[in-house]
Amino acid sequence: MQGISPEAWKGQALMPTAFGEAATPSASHPPAEFLSFMNGLPNAAAIIGWSEGAPFFQIWNSEFARKFPPMVDRAEANSEQWIAHIRAEIIAFVLSGAPQRRFEVERMSPLGIEAFDCTLALIDDPCVGGQRVLLNALDRTADRRVEESLRRELVSDSLTALPNRVGFGELMEETIARHAHDTSTQLGVLIVDLMRFGRVNEALGSMAGDELILSIAARLNGCIGKDAVIARIGGNDFGIFVEARSGISDVITLAERVQAILSAPIRLSNLTISVNCAIGCSLSPIKDADPDELVRQAQAASRIAKNSGRVEIYRAGELGAARQRFFLESRLRDALARDGLTLSYQPIIELASGGVIGFEALARWQDQDLGVVSPADFIPVAEESGLIVQLGRWAVHEALHQMACWDVRHGAEVPLKVSVNLSSIQIARDDVAAMVADALELNAMHGSRLTIELTESALVDDPVKCRALLETFKRADIAVAMDDFGTGFSNLASLQSLPLDVLKMDRSFVTDMLIDTDKLAIIRAILSLAQTLGMKTTAEGIEDADAAAALRDMGCTYGQGYYFAKPLSADDAYEFWRSRSNLAT
Ligand code: C2E
Ligand code: MG
Ligand code: MG
Repeated sequence: MQGISPEAWKGQALMPTAFGEAATPSASHPPAEFLSFMNGLPNAAAIIGWSEGAPFFQIWNSEFARKFPPMVDRAEANSEQWIAHIRAEIIAFVLSGAPQRRFEVERMSPLGIEAFDCTLALIDDPCVGGQRVLLNALDRTADRRVEESLRRELVSDSLTALPNRVGFGELMEETIARHAHDTSTQLGVLIVDLMRFGRVNEALGSMAGDELILSIAARLNGCIGKDAVIARIGGNDFGIFVEARSGISDVITLAERVQAILSAPIRLSNLTISVNCAIGCSLSPIKDADPDELVRQAQAASRIAKNSGRVEIYRAGELGAARQRFFLESRLRDALARDGLTLSYQPIIELASGGVIGFEALARWQDQDLGVVSPADFIPVAEESGLIVQLGRWAVHEALHQMACWDVRHGAEVPLKVSVNLSSIQIARDDVAAMVADALELNAMHGSRLTIELTESALVDDPVKCRALLETFKRADIAVAMDDFGTGFSNLASLQSLPLDVLKMDRSFVTDMLIDTDKLAIIRAILSLAQTLGMKTTAEGIEDADAAAALRDMGCTYGQGYYFAKPLSADDAYEFWRSRSNLAT
């Protein structure tokens, strides 16, 4: 009977009825069934008797001797805390009169914390006819380690080993709890957004991206000081929180330190990379700080910092703008589902003849409560939310359907083209070629009656996909206009090889072109570029006769703007064309 000490079987016959009752241990031997029962248990188990007003270990199995040697060697003499804990539990169990008791024990070992789930139960001692306590200890150390490592994964970023978004929130909660009665300290949060990090990943591969993140994490770690905690809260976002004892100035000082440390170029293998970051901050009295709210506020500020290039501090109202966007999104979703959008048609004029060659279809939305919402407000919301796919499909169908209606009204095909705007997000998310082909087929329209307007961002975002799409359009006789030309970053050389029909000069060059020589120079350059590439040109935003005449004289093909007409309803557009075509004949 390995692990059982025969000498140990000398406990008293009965458990005391009350704690502290004196008893004389009577020497006896453990019955065979006790011993085999004990050794049959997979866990550490011991039987405890009572002697001189205190529990003592009577017998135990080999597992118990292995796991708890100090306890059985000379338990009373050992002052370790976990032993005291087990003894206290045994005494409390005996006193409670309950049939069972569970408790957990933890102790430090050279390999880390060990944990045991323990059960105490009364068992009959058939030998002397009394009762004993059976202690059963289940080793949970391995489970705990798994739990701990899962937990570590849950709260930390695998690349940098910094806390992640969840860990960041928890650490903030802990700090807030420590300052429950502190009325003077504030909690500041900084969001450091690495701009164009996606480009590094794209251009150099994700290994280089990882290396960059690690270098930045190391730099940030080195500069934040002991009162701040850093976390990686998103792919290209770091979060920092700081106990700001001097309020906002602590936060700004830290933000400036971060900005300075990140402004030095970073060496990645044989490349040197400059990192641009946008930093947004938020601040709240620490005792009633809400971690999620602070992070959201700092993120809102960092979005503003992206444009301003400065460190931005959250101001009330900015989150309001984000909520407003959400609100707008849900109303727009409804409007699209209920057919609540319309198209307006702005004439495109051939400058040399003054004739109408077509119309640009522009989305219009009048909401019951919000009134007229400008495309400048709802198109970005549609793009951000993905609703642009639905909106864009609707716009192409609606515009072609309108052309078909005009044909019917005219009794013949009207000699007009309709231009429809296509967002780069549509190209990324929709099968635009199939969508346009379906719309043409459904409305029995030939491709030559349609112009698609794209902005340069479509070319920049996914040049390969965009080129393939343009070639499909070309084969279907659909014209393509490069909208808002001059404001984007497209590579001029790439234009040459693309099947583009029209360059639409952005309104910003046309406005005040006659008094601003720089604008005039840009317009001349664009016109000559277009001519070299064999493309036509449209000037957007012509608001007076002088600009129209000057553009015509410089060789610009088409014009569009309030001078000719504002965007019109379908009926007014038809009448506009009729009156102009009468004029022309
Ligand atoms: P865009 O495609 O460049 O359209 C021209 C914008 O300039 C229109 O603004 C038009 O009303 C305005 N405009 C035209 N002539 C003048 C002028 O003489 N002076 C001034 N100040 N403005 C003029 P709108 O309708 O507000 O549309 C804004 C932008 O929203 C459009 O710019 C286009 O990018 C986008 N958009 C509109 N409808 C759609 C659509 O159905 N799909 C997509 N993807 N985008 C659309
Ligand atoms: Mg346009
Ligand atoms: Mg435009």
